[in-house]
Amino acid sequence: MSLRTVIKKATGQDVYTCQSCNDCDIGAREDMDIPLSSLIQLVLLNDEEALECRTLWSDSVLEASRGACKRGLDLHAVLLALREEYKKNPDI
Ligand code: SF4
Repeated sequence: MSLRTVIKKATGQDVYTCQSCNDCDIGAREDMDIPLSSLIQLVLLNDEEALECRTLWSDSVLEASRGACKRGLDLHAVLLALREEYKKNPDI
């Protein structure tokens, strides 16, 4: 199952609607390695790096992700769904 489908099933959010506008920029943080918009692009590419990047596992990013997307994607729910997916298969 693709990461996009995993997220859609878990949250109803379709990351395909991301417009790569980068309006979800929450600024640089010590515990993040890629911007949220890049994380969504990795999901769209079904790249498992999405599950391993520091950005996904940063609690400060998770908190800042609430309402971060200005195009209606619930990034907070997306991040939680990705974390759950990784926990199901941590050997990725
Ligand atoms: S603000 Fe929303 S639509 Fe724009 S890049 Fe970020 S996630 Fe995608």
